[in-house]
Amino acid sequence: LSSPDIASDISAVDVNRVSKIFGGEQEVRALDDVSVSIRRNEFFTLLGPSGCGKTTLLRLIAGFESPTMGSIQLAGRDISRLPPNQRPINTVFQNYALFPHMSVAGNIAFGLEMLGKPKAEIAETVDRMLQLVQMEALKTRRTSEISGGQQQRVALARALAPHPEVLLLDEPLSALDLKLRKEMQIELKRLQHETGITFIFVTHDQEEALTMSDRIAVMSAGKILQIGTPRDIYERPAERFVANFIGESNFLDAELAGNTVTLHAGGRFQAQIPEGVADGPVSVLVRPEHAQVRAGTAGDGEIGAVIETVVYSGDATSVHMRLGTGELVKARLSNAPGAGSELPGEGGAVTMTIAPNAITVLRD
Ligand code: ATP
Repeated sequence: LSSPDIASDISAVDVNRVSKIFGGEQEVRALDDVSVSIRRNEFFTLLGPSGCGKTTLLRLIAGFESPTMGSIQLAGRDISRLPPNQRPINTVFQNYALFPHMSVAGNIAFGLEMLGKPKAEIAETVDRMLQLVQMEALKTRRTSEISGGQQQRVALARALAPHPEVLLLDEPLSALDLKLRKEMQIELKRLQHETGITFIFVTHDQEEALTMSDRIAVMSAGKILQIGTPRDIYERPAERFVANFIGESNFLDAELAGNTVTLHAGGRFQAQIPEGVADGPVSVLVRPEHAQVRAGTAGDGEIGAVIETVVYSGDATSVHMRLGTGELVKARLSNAPGAGSELPGEGGAVTMTIAPNAITVLRD
């Protein structure tokens, strides 16, 4: 087992079968047997609805809480018993938690001073951090006198200054307006790339997770349901909850036999079958952009539908149609020049087609 490759394969953070139960009047199982390995230099996102356990997992990694069961390793070393200030980990909180009476530079220097770093080194690091987050011009300004977006940059600079191995970010963009949030998403990606620090980012915003992450863990009710790249998670969700939480979904009833899916509404398709799904009745996912519509009634083995609504939205047109089974399907048709054909209005007969390889069988 002493392969020379092992050292370079060591993950940044390993969470091993961790459960967290909060006591009190009623016990809360905030995390239920969670395991995940986060790679070095990765932008890793914990995504899930409110109360699913994202913050609890982050607090366990930071050391603000300890696991009821299981262990956490950092670069292969068990840190379960290490206090937060001895972990090479820093956290950026939602509310920034800056010192309002201190200058921008003073805030960034603070942690380094606590660590007892030499003055010259602190000055050099502060300047480098100011440059990194493009705040040189406001160096001497009090943090109570800068904008929310600028405060967020200072909070990031402060957390990055001691060059932690891992940076934890708990919904750091949620206080910003949409435009600034989009800018900071790109900014965060750049900072992660330039510093080479492992980022573990918490959000309940699926779009934010898709655009920023190398990999995403989707959580629900204290469990991790799926871990994968944004493309895996969006295109091959393993179960209904994941499909529903990320992007828009159509769920259709079908019968599975081998690799063949036969929709109740008509049509037969080849599909990849996730582990643990047996032949018989299944639910399948079709994303709206993979459903296509053609004017005219369906032939044999095709999927007939009736138009309910057609909504034009610039780059695309959304079509809601009712299948013979009564199932309602949303299709998103590109409005690119030359794309699609003229469709009938409400009540018109159409045929639904599905892009090749676009049927996902769900485990549920
Ligand atoms: P949000 O997006 O709303 O912050 P979250 O996914 O981060 O949610 P957690 O804050 O981790 O969720 O909470 C998970 C569960 O644990 C919730 O049911 C919460 O009420 C509970 N919980 C969290 N902290 C404590 C605590 N200190 N004592 C008791 N219960 C707690």
